[in-house]
Amino acid sequence: MSTSGSSGTPSAAGSSHAHVDSPLPPRILVVGGGYVGMYTALRLGQRLQRDEARVTVVDPRSYMTYQPFLPEAGAGSIQPRHTVVPLRQTLRDAEIITGSIVKVDHAHKIAVVQPLEGAAYDLPYDTLVMAVGSVPRTLPIPGLADWAMGFKNVEEAIALRNRVLECLDIAESATDPEIRERNLTFVFVGGGYAGTEALAETEDLARYATRYLRNVTPADLRFVMVEASSRILPEVGEDMGRWTVEQLRERGIDIKLETRLESTVNGEVVLSDGTTLLSDTVVWTAGVKPHPLLEATDLPLDERGRLVCRTDLQVEGVADAWGAGDCTAVPDLTNPGTFCSPSAQHAVRQAKVLADNIVASMRGFATRDYKHHHNGSVASLGLYKGVAQVYGIKIKGFPAWFLHRTYHMSKVPTTRRKVQVVTDWTIAFLFQRDVTSLWSMHDPRMAFSEVARASDAATIAEAEGRQAQGRESQG
Ligand SMILES: Cc1cc2nc3c(=O)[nH]c(=O)nc-3n(C[C@H](O)[C@H](O)[C@H](O)COP(=O)(O)OP(=O)(O)OC[C@H]3O[C@@H](n4cnc5c(N)ncnc54)[C@H](O)[C@@H]3O)c2cc1C
Repeated sequence: MSTSGSSGTPSAAGSSHAHVDSPLPPRILVVGGGYVGMYTALRLGQRLQRDEARVTVVDPRSYMTYQPFLPEAGAGSIQPRHTVVPLRQTLRDAEIITGSIVKVDHAHKIAVVQPLEGAAYDLPYDTLVMAVGSVPRTLPIPGLADWAMGFKNVEEAIALRNRVLECLDIAESATDPEIRERNLTFVFVGGGYAGTEALAETEDLARYATRYLRNVTPADLRFVMVEASSRILPEVGEDMGRWTVEQLRERGIDIKLETRLESTVNGEVVLSDGTTLLSDTVVWTAGVKPHPLLEATDLPLDERGRLVCRTDLQVEGVADAWGAGDCTAVPDLTNPGTFCSPSAQHAVRQAKVLADNIVASMRGFATRDYKHHHNGSVASLGLYKGVAQVYGIKIKGFPAWFLHRTYHMSKVPTTRRKVQVVTDWTIAFLFQRDVTSLWSMHDPRMAFSEVARASDAATIAEAEGRQAQGRESQG
């Protein structure tokens, strides 16, 4: 590893290529503080000597998101705050920069940071770790950008829950059939585990919430899943995917296989099978693609835009550059000819190998290959319902749901979060589910602004009245 003696920090904003002679140890720059980024930085912190290297993590969010818990956060079984892990509290030895990397010039070992506010600045580094993850894979569908929402981060999970409960409140008090249809129809596009879990958990919550309504019954709810292929939940295998379709259909959910979303302009949803629906809630969960930041680097990408990595997680043919997780193409040694799938299971394990290999190469030792047999997958389908295929064993219903909870509880980072999640579950078990919509929190200034504007208008009207009176008395 080369050492540039780099010193770029947020305070170096504007001073590009700030190279100052200083005794600072070489910088390992971790781009992204998600699964790979956080676990890599954590491991580096444990393995490195104090002056061997310093670790800088850059992420536009100050927290790592435990994405498998998002569907439960959306359903209200877990407090959304408990699905995220604060980077500064967890990575005590690392420097955390809250901002986005917008360009990487690895030939000169300079990354450009765009902080949340203020001008972009150059950040020199010595070793690069690309852990920027993925973004939703969208298609040019009319209305999609304006009308649909994703389901990849905690803000979206909170918004979906508030939105669905708000829709029920609107429908309960509406008399117009079109308003009721718009607010009681929920469309989820894409049947991977993000889409299937989000749909199943949300439907479970909405059905529960109807017990407190007088004008909306479970039969009035219309949940639709649109999936372009002939199956859903490929992660749990073909049989269990079929079983899941049957289970969801028995719950009244309309699963449309081999069907595509064609348009959703202003919530007028048109599907490829000719179905048209009115829906104010369209959720897009049709897969992911590597983060577009990769295109703003001089690193090698494959035809799908993934960072090309070797089995030891070093970027192919490039010194001092490493990568793992959803943004990479890492050969899967357990299944030659294929690449590791984008999953938390690989991301966490790759992070450990990646950190160890960086330390090994810094110390002049050999690196090791990443090899992991996929254990299988578990998915939650609502309270007490689940499906799993683990080590080839197929599990359905309550045992799968219980496995889902215990597995993810054991995996969520930090003891504090584990305790908080179990406490959330216990409270949800002992008491009634919370069905309050806080949709208005998405525009928290609205109520105050309305009052302030009304009071401004009254003051102006009063002043104008006084001026008019003055003119009259002068005349
Ligand atoms: C709803 C849902 C449920 C899931 N359930 C499961 C499951 O049950 N099992 C499983 O194995 N997998 C699951 N996954 C997939 C799993 O979460 C991902 O595979 C995993 O998060 C990938 O880790 P990563 O580090 O590559 O990316 P991420 O964890 O997404 O981290 C990427 C990080 O990069 C940051 N970033 C983005 N842009 C920039 C930038 N310009 N500069 C700097 N940083 C940036 C992001 O803010 C983020 O923190 C689920 C995903 C979702 C969405």
